[in-house]
Amino acid sequence: MNILNNDIKYIKGVGPARSKLLNKIGIFTVEDALYYFPKGYDDRSEIRKISEARLGEKNTLKCSIVSAPENFKTRNRLTITKVRVKDETGSAFCIWFNQPYMKTRFKKGDEFFINGKVERRFGQIQINSPIMESTSTGKNLYTSSIIPIYGLTKNLSHNTMIRIMKNVVDTSLDNIGETFSEDILKKYRLVQKKQALHDIHFPANKKAYLLARERLVFEELFMLQLSLFFLKKKNTESKEGIRFLRGKEEIYKFLDTLPYKLTEAQQMVMDDVIKDMEDKFPMNRLIQGDVGSGKTVIAVTAMLKAVVNGYQSAMMVPTEILAEQHYQTVKNMLYPFGINVLLLTSRLTEREKRIHLEQIESGVSDVIIGTHSVIQANIKFNRLGLVITDEQHRFGVTQRAELARKAENPDVLVMSATPIPRTLMHVLYGDLDISIIDQLPAGRKAIKTYHIFPSMRKRLEKFILNEIKKGRQVYMVCSLIEDSDNIDAISAVQLYDYAKKRFNNIKVGLLHGKLKENQKEDIMEKFYQGDIDILVSTTVIEVGVNVPNSTIMVIENAERFGLAQLHQLRGRVGRGNYQAYCILISDLKSKVARERIKVMVNTNDGFEIAEKDLKIRGPGEFFGVKQHGIPELKIADLSKDIRILELAKKAAQEIIDKSDENEEYKKLLYIAVQNFKNKIKQIALN
Ligand code: ADP
Ligand code: MG
Repeated sequence: MNILNNDIKYIKGVGPARSKLLNKIGIFTVEDALYYFPKGYDDRSEIRKISEARLGEKNTLKCSIVSAPENFKTRNRLTITKVRVKDETGSAFCIWFNQPYMKTRFKKGDEFFINGKVERRFGQIQINSPIMESTSTGKNLYTSSIIPIYGLTKNLSHNTMIRIMKNVVDTSLDNIGETFSEDILKKYRLVQKKQALHDIHFPANKKAYLLARERLVFEELFMLQLSLFFLKKKNTESKEGIRFLRGKEEIYKFLDTLPYKLTEAQQMVMDDVIKDMEDKFPMNRLIQGDVGSGKTVIAVTAMLKAVVNGYQSAMMVPTEILAEQHYQTVKNMLYPFGINVLLLTSRLTEREKRIHLEQIESGVSDVIIGTHSVIQANIKFNRLGLVITDEQHRFGVTQRAELARKAENPDVLVMSATPIPRTLMHVLYGDLDISIIDQLPAGRKAIKTYHIFPSMRKRLEKFILNEIKKGRQVYMVCSLIEDSDNIDAISAVQLYDYAKKRFNNIKVGLLHGKLKENQKEDIMEKFYQGDIDILVSTTVIEVGVNVPNSTIMVIENAERFGLAQLHQLRGRVGRGNYQAYCILISDLKSKVARERIKVMVNTNDGFEIAEKDLKIRGPGEFFGVKQHGIPELKIADLSKDIRILELAKKAAQEIIDKSDENEEYKKLLYIAVQNFKNKIKQIALN
């Protein structure tokens, strides 16, 4: 039996009690422990002479014992153990408090590595409570090497953990097989896996650590990429999709009805989509485009093409407000073609719902738009051929897959405006083909972004009134709905009351998540129609909302929003030909707030903001709650390991391309899929 699968409690030094502690930090088997990587290191490898020791810092010294240790009692009843040590450059005292047994540990003439904080006291060099290890064993864990630092839990000490991990590494290494062939190891200059797993825990020096890390990061990212490539291959080449061949004329006609010409970038993405749809493999494409780049029209074109070919299209969006908006847009755009568009909302009566389901199932409805209501079990489509998710970053990979499962090998289009760094897009969406709209429609003026302090509110109000006089509309976004005792921020309700009093003759509306669906719709409708001048809102308008006549976005307590969110909110304005403004109100008290607001004021580019965001927040939080879809990585750090990611991707591509003929590559593919099985199961099912 392979020891890697053994229960951790059988490792020397563990036992039942400690194994419970280890379970708490996710370690159940020997293998879990082996892959429980240090979160940092304490480099104690440099051995200094007493005369060169750095005062006030921890040093490692190599000394011999000058005379037997002695215990003293101080006046306040403390026991002090003191032992004199020396090397060829001088002598020093090691001191311990209330550890009288230390006295028995050292014999005159013995040589030790000593690690501890070195100080000068009363003209003498003193080392407080040092760790001492004999120089004769050759097995030092704590003194003369690079010491791993592990995530711990209560009652599990640093030193115990190191001892356990040492035993884990020593007993299990012989069981570690090599993943890669000699060829691959050589080609990508990787150290052996066995070596890497040893050195990541107990590196002999910095170089050994770096090589070990490189190897393990490579393997992790390689396996991830390979499993995604596998899915992509499975989703496309192995499946027979629908060939949507008709519709050329209708698309011309449709584009003719638009009040604008597509941008070059839109045109290119449109070509990708049309080609995919006509192809015999199912489409699996992500359209990534910054806010306002014009993704909707591409989705509508694709839906038109699907319907012309006799199929239904379904579009899933994250909010009811957005569903309603898209419904209006799509209905108007497709009206000339006699296409039936249906909106699935959550607030239908039973009877209405029955009729809707019936229309979907019988095929009366050609285009169906809704929130995740479209993936509910009771919805049966008649001949669904194209599925689209808008604002994909708000959904999990699973939900995307669920929609696709409503049909047999449908074409899948995914749209997202999450500004994520380009390189990472391939990780998050590695199973999709990617098209990027990297250009805004002509005539758009860059949004001007300013920061103001709360004290400058009066001037802002004048500015707002002026825009409204010109016929424009304004958003004012708050982080809270109602006042909170614990949070010092302006709430939407409070601001709404204030604005109503402050601006007479101006129509102010209030929108937030606690309103009923039909109230929300009502307010949004009024805002679309221009019957509301100032919309005071929470972040319910964050995604997708499109009112080109609005030109000012005011964000209250801007420090309370993340960069991605600020950028999305700002994207609600500047969608027409008017000059638009984004006003960030903040007292700038925290450093992070200052950094974020500086980024916002300096750039409008979503990709650039994403890079900065990743830097400010770190990948843990960056890929946190909202950005689903990325498996948890054990060692790779996506904000730093871009170079290895590119390399791993190249390697994975090569392997997948040749995996049909090459047995070794086939095996790697199998391992990759196993590794990420749980994460990708849902997608793979489909
Ligand atoms: P997003 O990519 O954020 O979903 P939308 O598709 O909502 O953007 O488009 C934003 C606005 O730009 C809409 O009002 C849309 O009508 C308009 N628009 C789209 N494409 C063009 C274009 N090529 N030229 C001018 N305006 C466009
Ligand atoms: Mg959109």
